[in-house]
Amino acid sequence: MSNHHFDIIIVGAGASGLMAAVRASDQNLDVLILEHQPKAGIKILSTGNGRCNLTNSDLSSAHFRCEDPLFFRPALEAFSWQDTIRFFEEQLHLFCKEKNGYWYPRSNQATAVREALLAGCRENEVKIRRNEEIREIRKKDQRFHIRTDQDTYSAAVCILCCGGKAFPKSGSDGSGYRLAKAFGHSIVKPLPALMALYSDRSELFVLAGVRAWGKVSLFVNGTHVITDEGELQFTDYGISGIPVFQISRYAAIALHKKEQVLAVIDLIPEMTKEELEAYLTAGCMEQKTQAKEQLSGLLNGLLPKKVTEYLIGQAKGTLKDQIRQISSEIKEMPVPIVKTASFGQAQTTTGGVRVTEIDPDTMGSRLEEGLYFAGEMIDIDGACGGYNLQWAWSSGALAVDSAAAYIRERN
Ligand SMILES: Cc1cc2nc3c(=O)[nH]c(=O)nc-3n(C[C@H](O)[C@H](O)[C@H](O)COP(=O)(O)OP(=O)(O)OC[C@H]3O[C@@H](n4cnc5c(N)ncnc54)[C@H](O)[C@@H]3O)c2cc1C
Repeated sequence: MSNHHFDIIIVGAGASGLMAAVRASDQNLDVLILEHQPKAGIKILSTGNGRCNLTNSDLSSAHFRCEDPLFFRPALEAFSWQDTIRFFEEQLHLFCKEKNGYWYPRSNQATAVREALLAGCRENEVKIRRNEEIREIRKKDQRFHIRTDQDTYSAAVCILCCGGKAFPKSGSDGSGYRLAKAFGHSIVKPLPALMALYSDRSELFVLAGVRAWGKVSLFVNGTHVITDEGELQFTDYGISGIPVFQISRYAAIALHKKEQVLAVIDLIPEMTKEELEAYLTAGCMEQKTQAKEQLSGLLNGLLPKKVTEYLIGQAKGTLKDQIRQISSEIKEMPVPIVKTASFGQAQTTTGGVRVTEIDPDTMGSRLEEGLYFAGEMIDIDGACGGYNLQWAWSSGALAVDSAAAYIRERN
């Protein structure tokens, strides 16, 4: 074993680590990335359904969730969504295109984003050591000394970019938290976020496969927490789709605290319950066919057939009773939530390194000089829509710029 010396060692070759590496080597710093997977940037390939939604033109605070609502602003201001586009287009020659504020590579291929970052690393002679497990990181004589299962390294700065626990097959298996803990950092319980929710209301499972526009509201112990609107998906275990993903981190946190979690679906947000009841009642009176057929015909004009069949099958009593029950189910369909999908299906992590222990202006540890953090391993999570990657780019850029300034000051 020999000891290799660097200015900066980055742990983790994911979105934030690769961004930090390209930017560090631009500043003539000698950089090493240590990655425990055989390949770098693997998660990027799965982002945006293989298209990689790499940022969003609306970076307002409402799209980021964090214990300190001001924590993420300095990084997002230091490296904005415009900086992301400039970085990829001007520096890495990867052209981007926008649709309704969502940005993708022009080629529509996530692989192009990974390739561009790796090309940036190659061009700047960033060293990437893959397939190495870190055994220990310790600080001695103002330098970080890293021992892996294969070699030893040292650097003035160490940036931890290990991701969270979501999608562990891409390498983010939570092992980075152990490295942060060794320096005294505390970890807010990591839980999955941006994923489907499981219900025990099994009669709804007949709707599996249905996709319908609607609103989903989350209630915890009877109190409304959040509502989102978009294309909902019914599954044979519960509910899914982007609006469900958006509310899912609140469900995960509440379930972890053993609180009661209820999702309520509104399948026709553009009508009130009274308007819907009046419409169905008037429509049934106009028609000359049998009551159930009349109702079914009207509902088929509003909702997917499978939903109509389910609603008609459930309704009991007089026509008036049935219209009331059906309207209630359409507007306030209760879906008790008993479980979330696992980290294996989640797109991000809520929880991670506690933000009060990190300086938001530098991404530097408040506990250990020269130690920095970036990306999903910090306790901050973004909504669906390019926010998690933007956080990875912004925090990676800020961490490395601060680290470069720290190295210059020391020399
Ligand atoms: C299916 C899916 C789709 C997504 N789609 C989008 C999208 O379209 N837009 C968006 O904004 N976000 C999306 N995300 C979220 C986004 O990909 C992540 O938030 C982002 O990649 C986090 O970047 P990161 O650098 O913090 O961590 P990661 O990209 O997870 O990288 C962490 C790296 O560190 C390595 N590592 C971990 N521990 C160690 C260790 N102990 N030693 C050495 N190496 C280690 C890992 O192997 C990995 O390479 C998606 C996520 C998933 C799972």
